[in-house]
Amino acid sequence: MAQDELSPSTGAQSGAAKSSDGYSGAISSSVSSGSAPMSGEIAIEIKNLVKRYRNLITREWVNAVNDISLDVHKGEIFGFLGPNGAGKTTTIKALLGLIFPDSGDVKVLGEAPNNNAIKAKISYLPESPYFYEHMTAREIINFYASLFGLDSRERAKRADYLIDLVGLASAGNKPLRAFSKGMLQRVGIAQSLINDPEVLFFDEPTSGLDPIAHRDIRDLILHLRTEGRTLFLSSHQLSDVELVCDRVSILYRGKIRKIGRVDELVVGGNVEILVKGFKTTPALAAEITGLGAKLEQSGPDTLIIGGSDNETKNALIDLVRRGEAQIIAVTPTRRTLEDIFIETIREGEVEAGEATKFAEASTTEALEVK
Ligand code: ADP
Repeated sequence: MAQDELSPSTGAQSGAAKSSDGYSGAISSSVSSGSAPMSGEIAIEIKNLVKRYRNLITREWVNAVNDISLDVHKGEIFGFLGPNGAGKTTTIKALLGLIFPDSGDVKVLGEAPNNNAIKAKISYLPESPYFYEHMTAREIINFYASLFGLDSRERAKRADYLIDLVGLASAGNKPLRAFSKGMLQRVGIAQSLINDPEVLFFDEPTSGLDPIAHRDIRDLILHLRTEGRTLFLSSHQLSDVELVCDRVSILYRGKIRKIGRVDELVVGGNVEILVKGFKTTPALAAEITGLGAKLEQSGPDTLIIGGSDNETKNALIDLVRRGEAQIIAVTPTRRTLEDIFIETIREGEVEAGEATKFAEASTTEALEVK
């Protein structure tokens, strides 16, 4: 992906809304949020990754990451989600070659990430990138570009391009101490693109930003996908994740609890059947609730929510017909990624509780045997 292939979408800036910091992204807000062109090629491969740490005080071993496996396709935006302490940072550190797995294997672009040729093709954006505040955005980009060995002409060209891309063209020569969090995040993204990376790791790229800056950063992320880059995104901003990610995994206590396409996860299994003139009887109502469905009456309309499988959905529609009702709409229920996340963590908590109880029971039994 040579720089020349990455022409900045300069024209898109006009008319774009400005965030409260007064800057708007060079990327049009109309960037498609459609899913990635799946190349089928794997960019990130995690196989049975285990990483343990020893607690310095209790001396107990903690499985920070406990046997996780996943693949991220080239050109995909993958959301790596989980509450604090789930094991996200540990996994990302392993993928960046900063720590070694205790067992299992990680590969980025088909190679171990500590391989220097691979390091040159990846980049990492921390949650709060820190820059020397007396330097300007242009100087910072120039400085980092020099670390990658670009000559002065190339550096200037790259700095111009990236500063324009992230919507800082009019602030590029101002010192960073005058920059808002959103503007610093744009500098961070520009910096993460200096080496024209194929795979980017972004940690909380939209946390603490105002709504317009949020949208601009989201659009930038989507733009990076249109350039064929792969993004591995760790974030608690679930509404952003829902909008930009193709697939997500939800990590809890070092284990992947859920993984899948966002569009498939958010479509609940149920349908909402809106009917008119339903002549329900207690027997019919009992049959409907017996199928696990819920009946809600609102004036002449009745809403029936249920049917996790096709057979049940059809059975519900048959019951509606028996009640001589007119079907107005049958709509799949939709949940937010936040609903899925909370449900997944709750399930994990219940299982962990069960596991603790089980362990306690075994200990009691062992004591009794003694
Ligand atoms: P997340 O990024 O999802 O918040 P981390 O990967 O930072 O989670 O941490 C996962 C678990 O591993 C936590 O219980 C954390 O306390 C523990 N852990 C992480 N790094 C270390 C370390 N260097 N030493 C000891 N424990 C650690």
